[in-house]
Amino acid sequence: MKRSPQLDRYQQYVDKTLLDAIYQKAQALTGLHILHLNTTETGGGVAEILEALTPVTEEFGIEQDRHIIQLDEQSNHFTGRLVDLLQGNLPGDIPEKEKRIFLKKLSETLPHPEECQADIYYVHDFQLAPLAHLYPWMQPALWFCHIDTAHPNPNAENYIRQYLDDYELYTFNTALSVFDNLLPQKTQVVTLGIDPFIEKNAPMEKERGMEVLARLGIDTQRPLITQVSRFDKWKNPWQVIDIYRQAKQQIPQVQVALVGAMEAADDIGASEVLHKLQDYAKGDPDIHFFYDPKQIQGEEVNAFQRFSDVILQRSSREGFGLTVTEAMWKGQPVVGTSVTGLRAQIEDGTNGYISDDTDAATKHTLDLLQDRALKQKLGKQAHEHVREHYLLPMMILSYLDALEKVHQ
Ligand code: UDP
Repeated sequence: MKRSPQLDRYQQYVDKTLLDAIYQKAQALTGLHILHLNTTETGGGVAEILEALTPVTEEFGIEQDRHIIQLDEQSNHFTGRLVDLLQGNLPGDIPEKEKRIFLKKLSETLPHPEECQADIYYVHDFQLAPLAHLYPWMQPALWFCHIDTAHPNPNAENYIRQYLDDYELYTFNTALSVFDNLLPQKTQVVTLGIDPFIEKNAPMEKERGMEVLARLGIDTQRPLITQVSRFDKWKNPWQVIDIYRQAKQQIPQVQVALVGAMEAADDIGASEVLHKLQDYAKGDPDIHFFYDPKQIQGEEVNAFQRFSDVILQRSSREGFGLTVTEAMWKGQPVVGTSVTGLRAQIEDGTNGYISDDTDAATKHTLDLLQDRALKQKLGKQAHEHVREHYLLPMMILSYLDALEKVHQ
């Protein structure tokens, strides 16, 4: 079959057998038209994944389209409550009336079937799970659960489960998030991978990185701790500030950056979290917040991830943290938590650290700030780990695998 120049660029990073396996699978899928349905045009992991997959799959002659379902404020509120239950395992349930209102809105959101023609429908995220049930023409359909559902609230899980029969396949980003007792033949893990060729992940000269950070108001002569993440309570940015404060007692010059510049339209809680955090920062000029997507684009994220002295990811829930993979690729040993995805992504003490406790995470942060050789050693292993497991070709292979399973 025709070569994909985009995929062939990976010859320098991955085994030829992996690329051959991708070509072989793609051959049977050429000519297919896939329609992805999700709630955000840009911002967040789902948009990131689709942007990474599309250029290669289109070179295989697999056409990919996206239909964005814009939810209104009330629906976003419902979604926020549902994610708290599914991901956070908070107690309680959503009132039946709210479920009915949300379903009614979803049932009125899609245009005529003729305008959504596709061979395969891929529905992303928990809140859109009812789609295949509401639109029976949407067949065959796959559902992708992108959040951390390792410990779901049973009411919320049952709410989602009632819609799953209408899907041919359910995909999760880690095995730990797969609901109990789903039929194995209808379940698949799609390993998420990053594209090292886009501006956010591409090599960058230190001089250029320093220029970018200085332009954003960072003092590049002083140590910098960073967390790159949406302003979301499940990313636990408060602990980032706590760790910074403790580290500052030992190293007074240290600064911290919280980088969450996203336009995720459904992220209603973001400004609330940001305001609370700004209060928590108490005007400390060494705590830097970045929330403007016009100011923070690929190159800026790259500079923060590559040239910060320590990268933290303090999530209290995380299905799979792309930001962690991105930072590891840039040679950063990430100080993460023991949450679902990060436990799978980071090998504690080998290519980063896993610790939930603020004191322990501060100790790792100080170790990395003070011991350059340690940072270099773990960082090298972090880069290598991503090369072996989490680059785009791995995701393409599992994605094609999923399509193959539902393609009749
Ligand atoms: N991101 C970004 N700019 C920011 C913060 C995050 O481009 O200011 C990107 C980040 O690089 C990553 C994605 O948004 O590619 C977030 O994905 P992740 O899986 O870490 O978290 P999610 O937002 O899906 O929960």
